[in-house]
Amino acid sequence: MLCVSIGRGRHRHVIAEHRHLVEQGARLVELRLDYLQSSINVKRLLADRPGPVVISCRRERDGGKSTLSEPDRQMLLRTAISEGAEYVDIEEDIAASTPRFGQTKRIISLHNFRQTPADLPAIHARMAALDADIVKIATMANQPSDNLRMLRLIRDSEIPTVGICMGDLGMPTRILAGKFGAPFTFATFHQERALAPGQLSFAQMTESYHYDDVAAATKVFGVIADPVGHSLSPLIHNAALLHAGIDAVYVPFRVPPEHLEDFLASAGEWDLRGLSVTIPHKEAVLDKLTDRDEWVDGIGAANTIVFDGPARRGYNTDCHAAMESLERAMSSDGAPATLSGKTALVLGAGGASKAIAYGLHQRGAQVVLTSRTLDRAKQLADRLGCRVVDWKSRHGVAPQVLVNCTPVGMHPNVDESPFDKHHLKPSMIVFDTVYNPESTLLVKFAREQSCRVVTGIEMFVRQAALQFKLFTGQEAPSDVMTDTLRRAIGPVKY
Ligand code: NAP
Repeated sequence: MLCVSIGRGRHRHVIAEHRHLVEQGARLVELRLDYLQSSINVKRLLADRPGPVVISCRRERDGGKSTLSEPDRQMLLRTAISEGAEYVDIEEDIAASTPRFGQTKRIISLHNFRQTPADLPAIHARMAALDADIVKIATMANQPSDNLRMLRLIRDSEIPTVGICMGDLGMPTRILAGKFGAPFTFATFHQERALAPGQLSFAQMTESYHYDDVAAATKVFGVIADPVGHSLSPLIHNAALLHAGIDAVYVPFRVPPEHLEDFLASAGEWDLRGLSVTIPHKEAVLDKLTDRDEWVDGIGAANTIVFDGPARRGYNTDCHAAMESLERAMSSDGAPATLSGKTALVLGAGGASKAIAYGLHQRGAQVVLTSRTLDRAKQLADRLGCRVVDWKSRHGVAPQVLVNCTPVGMHPNVDESPFDKHHLKPSMIVFDTVYNPESTLLVKFAREQSCRVVTGIEMFVRQAALQFKLFTGQEAPSDVMTDTLRRAIGPVKY
């Protein structure tokens, strides 16, 4: 179950948001009294409440906003108890002096905004002994393994425990709390109004992560990256899993490079079945794989890991997705879909170029690389045995296939193009890997010049769809993934 936190300055806004949330299906709501600016009237908030509540009045030292004197604050909590609030949040240090009364359940809470302490089980035991109905521990995650310690605590405790790791490193504990047996976890009313670091909104938790369906048997997939917050993979994979009726959830894991080894070693405990791998881990995962397909070796990077017992199998779906996308565009007018012998100019020499240039080379294309930093292009060209031109000379190549693997044109710099319009010819295929926006300036130029076009969205969805197949053994609902991605990115603004 989700408990949605409401923190508003005025009583009438709290009441209105509470009603709205209940209409949206929220079954439990936390009223954060410390956000109220006028004199706090607990009875008014509880009088006609449309559903069960948790009453909290957090002090500044616990990450809240209450400036009340401690006796006044505790009086508010006692009033909430005597008025029959379903739950009242009582900090550990005032638990002994706050008596139990009526049916109100006691949430004994502790917040630590600096770290996840090493002695979590001892802290939990101390709190459980304070006549707790529920223990709530919210701590800052400083490393991915903090999450697992918190989830273990939830799983192993006899008293229902709400365990949360805060911050973007801690996001997995919010999404997976129910899988490990937490009675509920917290979400915020709106994604721009998080009341604690890393908190997700009610809409994100329900629509993207279908939180209430995540249970002990739910399989876990995810993406590892650092940072990970911008990744659209959770959105489209979760939409696909939901559509396919698969009992699984796809989680964003922020894994700093120095924790990669540890994180992969703990895959079993997370119940991880598959991972998408992105910046900065695509190369670093190579020596941690037990098996890999030949493309991974050729490219020198993996973007997918499938876990099967102790086996960690690596794949690169970026490369296959790019080649399939290009071949589809080539055959769209009935022409043979062969890249063999075609001159393909690849702009950029980073991760995407590595996968795409390798694929083109394997398909027999004459690859020409160019990059702002010439040495990077030269290094890649040496591996593949292909030609390099310097960035300033790129318009002199006259390719049949042009692939942009630079971020030029990406939001917010949507009025930039890495290639001049006047050098685009109708016979060319233009592939822009940038997917936000879908209609980049380069794509727009290419359409104006009647070129065949492949967009970054097509590649992004294809690489995700191939991962979905590797993860689940089922064909991906690509249309659902595309629609979800387009909705998330929104219309292009020039
Ligand atoms: P990367 O490893 O950082 O490489 C970026 C490349 O672009 C480098 O060669 C870099 O040159 C060059 N570059 C950066 N800014 C430039 C500029 N202003 N002018 C000219 N060149 C510039 O990044 P990546 O992982 O390859 O990703 C590149 C792009 O591909 C991203 O924008 C992403 O949107 C797209 N992509 C799309 C998909 C998909 O599924 N559609 C998948 C992966 C990537 P320097 O070496 O000089 O910095």
